Amino acid sequence: MEEKRLNTASILGVHFHAVTMEQAVDLAMSRLRARQQGYVVTPNPEIVDLCRRDSAFMGIVNHATLVLPDGIGIIYAAKILGETLCGKVAGIEFAENLAAAMAREGMRLYLLGAKPGVAEQAGANLCAKYPGLVLAGTHDGYFTDAQEAVEAINACGGADVVFVCLGAPKQEKFIADNMEDIHATLFCGLGGSLDVFAGVAKRAPDIFIKLGLEWFYRLLKQPSRIGRMMKLPLFLLTVIRERLFGGRGK
Ligand code: UDP
Repeated sequence: MEEKRLNTASILGVHFHAVTMEQAVDLAMSRLRARQQGYVVTPNPEIVDLCRRDSAFMGIVNHATLVLPDGIGIIYAAKILGETLCGKVAGIEFAENLAAAMAREGMRLYLLGAKPGVAEQAGANLCAKYPGLVLAGTHDGYFTDAQEAVEAINACGGADVVFVCLGAPKQEKFIADNMEDIHATLFCGLGGSLDVFAGVAKRAPDIFIKLGLEWFYRLLKQPSRIGRMMKLPLFLLTVIRERLFGGRGK
């Protein structure tokens, strides 16, 4: 599948790709086989909001090989704006499906990010779950000089895929600034995913995910997220204003 032919849905200037999970993984795998370098971003409403405040960051996001709609807020926004998406493609689920597909072809995965020890644990758990997957190496996300991380990835012989989990916008900027110097094909910006793969943080029970209430579960578990959560209704208000008044409501 050619990403040039993918339909996009524009949400406040961010051009999301209208793909299913299966299409996203297929596309990533064909690029890996062809060794065509690229990167995947998984914007949620918070990231869209960051893009609106930082045009350089918006450029990085819109140049990604795949821009996947992470979170129910993006799906609501698309509905309000009359844009077509093929449903949510959560970053963490994409990462897991990609790891499974990579395992079937014995591909190499490098994990970059999170607190010391977390990436190693995440790697061990992923390799146990998906036999065939090769853990190329790991590095924590608290380096002071990006060069240190670049050298660490290259020193282990490079990788097919690097999961870059430094939070936004740090991870996307790291990818854009450094990917040409790194011996790897596909980079995926995946926020707190390593904490989940390592078992340090838990995802919501399935029923919350199915009902689109994962955000509510995260709020119950961690009430200090309220500040971040309040951005969701504000985001939807901005989307409604965009729908009613076009760009004039900014
Ligand atoms: N992180 C990191 N380096 C940093 C800042 C953050 O590796 O300088 C990690 C942090 O430990 C966590 C992830 O980046 O694992 C960000 O998680 P967050 O929940 O903010 O991301 P989200 O999934 O909400 O985008």
